[in-house]
Amino acid sequence: MSCKTKSKFACEFNFDLLSISLMTLILLIVIISCDNNPKSMNNKNLISPEKPLFADDTHSYSDPDKAYTTHLDLKLKVDFESKTLNGTATYDIRAFDADVIVFDTKMLNITKVTSNIDKDIAYTIGSEDPILGSPLTIPINPETTEVTIHYSTTPESAALLWLDPEQTTDKRLPFLFTQGQAILTRTWIPCQDSPGIRITYDATLEIPDNMLAVMSASNPTERNETGIYTYKMEQPIPPYLIAMAVGDLEFGKIGDRTGVYAEPSMLDKSLFEFGDMEKMLIAAEKLYGPYLWEKYDVIVLPASFPFGGMENPRLTFATPTIIAGDKSLTALIAHELAHSWSGNLVTNATWDDFWLNEGFTVYFERRIMEALYGSDYSNMLALLGYQDLEHTVEDIGHKHGDTHLRLRLEGRDPDDGMTDIAYEKGALFLIMLENHFGRERFDQFVKDYFDKNKFQSMTTDAFIDYLNTNLLNESDEKIDIRAWIDAPGIPDDSFRPKSNKFTHVETAVAKFLNTQIAPEYDWSTHEWLHFIRQLSDELPESSMSILDKAYNFSVSGNSEIAAAWYEKSINTGYDSVNIKNIQEFLLRVGRRKFLTPLYKALIENDQKNIALAIYKKARPNYHAVSRQTLDTLLDL
Ligand SMILES: [Zn+2]
Repeated sequence: MSCKTKSKFACEFNFDLLSISLMTLILLIVIISCDNNPKSMNNKNLISPEKPLFADDTHSYSDPDKAYTTHLDLKLKVDFESKTLNGTATYDIRAFDADVIVFDTKMLNITKVTSNIDKDIAYTIGSEDPILGSPLTIPINPETTEVTIHYSTTPESAALLWLDPEQTTDKRLPFLFTQGQAILTRTWIPCQDSPGIRITYDATLEIPDNMLAVMSASNPTERNETGIYTYKMEQPIPPYLIAMAVGDLEFGKIGDRTGVYAEPSMLDKSLFEFGDMEKMLIAAEKLYGPYLWEKYDVIVLPASFPFGGMENPRLTFATPTIIAGDKSLTALIAHELAHSWSGNLVTNATWDDFWLNEGFTVYFERRIMEALYGSDYSNMLALLGYQDLEHTVEDIGHKHGDTHLRLRLEGRDPDDGMTDIAYEKGALFLIMLENHFGRERFDQFVKDYFDKNKFQSMTTDAFIDYLNTNLLNESDEKIDIRAWIDAPGIPDDSFRPKSNKFTHVETAVAKFLNTQIAPEYDWSTHEWLHFIRQLSDELPESSMSILDKAYNFSVSGNSEIAAAWYEKSINTGYDSVNIKNIQEFLLRVGRRKFLTPLYKALIENDQKNIALAIYKKARPNYHAVSRQTLDTLLDL
């Protein structure tokens, strides 16, 4: 995902890391030896010689070592009138002397549970935890191979955002999309909602016949008259990657394996913007091995989508705010594409290991961009990322446990861990290794890592073992990886990216401050962003006004530039001029990366009442993911 919040976290952690690592190692050894020694071969549903090793995930009620799901058959009716999904989730299961199987649910209305041998099972739903939801416990016996859960969603199902026609780009038909990461899939499908549990799935959706529905699966490219569509995901994925979008959608092809879904008025713009997608895919394969998901499409969602993108397999979900008209923000597509390896092939086993998904992906994204557009380009991305990281470390606190790569999120919402630390510190860790071992050797290591661990999950401890055995043992010099993984801040041996292009920008800023003259520049989006970031928060209104007149920042169609300028406007007091544009932006866009700094700047500059007034109007247009962050920020 490309999201990154910059929230301040509530609590510090004080763990004895050595003993935790030792315990995990002992546990792993025990699990491995148990697995080689099946308890009873008479048990009909004990059929898996290759039962995966499951990590202990504190964010799921399921107990996969006893009973786990392998395949989902989902049948849902999408009802825009009542804004509910109704239907059944049927799972193939494997159990090991277990008398129950446990699912995660949150804010679902469960009406009935059946199995291959029992037409009415007496299930139980446990008490509700505000973060985790409720466990659904279903009794099973040795003959149980399949369970079916009959259910419907509720208005509180946080994964779903139901949009009225006027909240879409074309304003013709309503729209629905889901966002599963981190633990929201359980709010629209009862499931074993742990990233370490992989399932394949089939789905049948019944939707209004004038709309099209797509999923993270094989997809239709045209509407049919019945409104009934079927989908297939044949590669095993964790539940957070099950996704659906329904709306006024059309498909356009880019290359043999790539294409775009969008509302009709956005389709041509999107096809132009993402025109290099097939090339990106080829560049990615050249770096780290074959693409194993067959198709790679992108759906451009309404502006309410809370993230830049979400790497739902075969179909990246993307914000329209990356359509800049000049292909300048497509690093985001490279990022989501890179997740097809890091995240979707090799998946963080728990949300404490989130950096394994995002650190690898940021590193990989910049390698794709370098391959396509050169190192001048990727260096700018790296330096902007480094600035974000410094800002986040400052914000969280240099000694805070949340600046470790390995997180301790037990008892907290895993969304708290989705900061620049996982992304940028994670990528810097890999750059440090690349610098140490040389690019050629490091690329081979990464390629092998994806290949040997494909369709599996990875804990931080298992990664450290893998790294020790397959790379670090080749070095005479000791590399202190604990300083990265289990210690705070930015380590001393980290590499600080450099960019010649940005040096020119810094000269231009100095020149402007001296002369108050704003000449024309033929710059990229990234250079403009660096320019705005370099301006002091003390800049007088008159200087802001000169820049605004020369460069039209306040009315920029480029969302990154506009958002950076609006934040600077609030911090310098120029927002008295600009507040209409800021309000319009906040009402239209739901991407959390933009919302959080803008609302925060308003609060910090004594304008909380304005922030609250805008938020009150904008909130129905935001997804629950953004709402949750902003409700906290605004003390609601
Ligand atoms: Zn990501």
